[in-house]
Amino acid sequence: MYFHDAETLERNKLEDLQVERLKETIGLAANSPYYSELFKKNNISADSIKTIDDVKKLPFTTKEDLRSQYPYGLLTRSLDDFVRLHASSGTTGTPTAVFYTQKDLDTWADLMARSMYAVGLRKSDVLQNMSGYGLFTGGLGIHYGSERLGCLTVPAGAGNTKRQIKLIRDYSVTALHIIPSFALYFAAKVRDEGFDPADMPWNVALIGAEPHTEHTRRKIEEMLCIKAYNSYGLSEMNGPGVAFECKEQDGMHVWEDSFIAEIIDPETGEHVEDGQIGELVMTTLTREGMPIIRYRTRDLTRFIPGQCKCGRTSRRIDRIMGRADDMLILKGVNIYPMQIEKIIMGIPEVGENYLIELVKEGLMDQIKIKVEIKEEHFVEDMRALQGIQKKIASMLRDEILITPRVELVQHNSIPKTEGKAVRVVDLRGDED
Ligand code: AMP
Ligand code: ZN
Repeated sequence: MYFHDAETLERNKLEDLQVERLKETIGLAANSPYYSELFKKNNISADSIKTIDDVKKLPFTTKEDLRSQYPYGLLTRSLDDFVRLHASSGTTGTPTAVFYTQKDLDTWADLMARSMYAVGLRKSDVLQNMSGYGLFTGGLGIHYGSERLGCLTVPAGAGNTKRQIKLIRDYSVTALHIIPSFALYFAAKVRDEGFDPADMPWNVALIGAEPHTEHTRRKIEEMLCIKAYNSYGLSEMNGPGVAFECKEQDGMHVWEDSFIAEIIDPETGEHVEDGQIGELVMTTLTREGMPIIRYRTRDLTRFIPGQCKCGRTSRRIDRIMGRADDMLILKGVNIYPMQIEKIIMGIPEVGENYLIELVKEGLMDQIKIKVEIKEEHFVEDMRALQGIQKKIASMLRDEILITPRVELVQHNSIPKTEGKAVRVVDLRGDED
């Protein structure tokens, strides 16, 4: 039933293990230029940790700290001991690099294999990895995990839909790893190519790497006739395989024998009440080459209270609601792109893609949302189209409290990126 004993450890045993590993991690981290100085300054050593609560005594590590140490400041040993590096996509600034020893890569592959096992994949599965390879961890991270589980692994990479479909059919692919924004586009393409998704060999999709709503997941499931499971990770914590849904699809289990997860108020840095939304903070517990302590992920989520029906004892996080730095402030109102996606993807006439544009109208900031409409609704009947447009605008107003400009556009007309989708573009500087 489970890939590893650690998944069902009693909470107190799990916490003992976390304490032991946190102490080890502090000892290792002290060998890096960055943490050795920080620990000295703050008088921190492995002895500072007696219980898991003591993690609060440790200072946070931010993206800026990683940047300031670029590229080698967090390494605990000589470069000769490292065999791989990855770099973050840099969606919010200059990239940061993460280095792995062979042991770190093995640990990561195990965590990834465990994640895939949790959604029912076994060695008899054939997995097609449809995310970009290269510096992005979704390529090699998923790849090695899939091989570790024993699956036949098809390293298709991103893009080229026709070839993707051919590979899937030729090798009877049962599992896809695909970015959610691409999954919707891909589903439409499969139909355009004359195939019925119900006749395709796949059963399971691993989707992650970018925020998406429950509606989007359901839509992917319906359009592809597949079960889609949410996969969370970030390069600073290896990459994918940090938190993963199980078959219950009720939150993502954090692999707590390998990571400490905390949720804090981003303003005060204090822990929020259980179940409240805040910023996820993560600590590596099983990484030797480049341990990272109390990393401020900027991702907003909450712990899901209670036990999961699957029997795993690790805590679950809710789907990521957005990033603390994604928040748009418009006319004094705070808006998260995921609030907009939640509404849009629930509207039956809406197709696969949307784009939020921030524009200036006169002196005012305005939010304009381009929404792709399904082909069958993109008719010449102006009144019908205006009806859809009004409906979208008013449903959005109820959610975000301001009325956006809604522009309906044709299926496939918003440009697709190969990696993570660009959901918001700020055009305010371009228009006077
Ligand atoms: P990178 O390290 O560049 O691959 O980016 C990691 C970031 O991608 C995370 O901090 C999240 O903001 C986002 N991300 C990864 N997985 C998910 C997911 N399942 N849901 C929402 N956002 C995700
Ligand atoms: Zn579960």
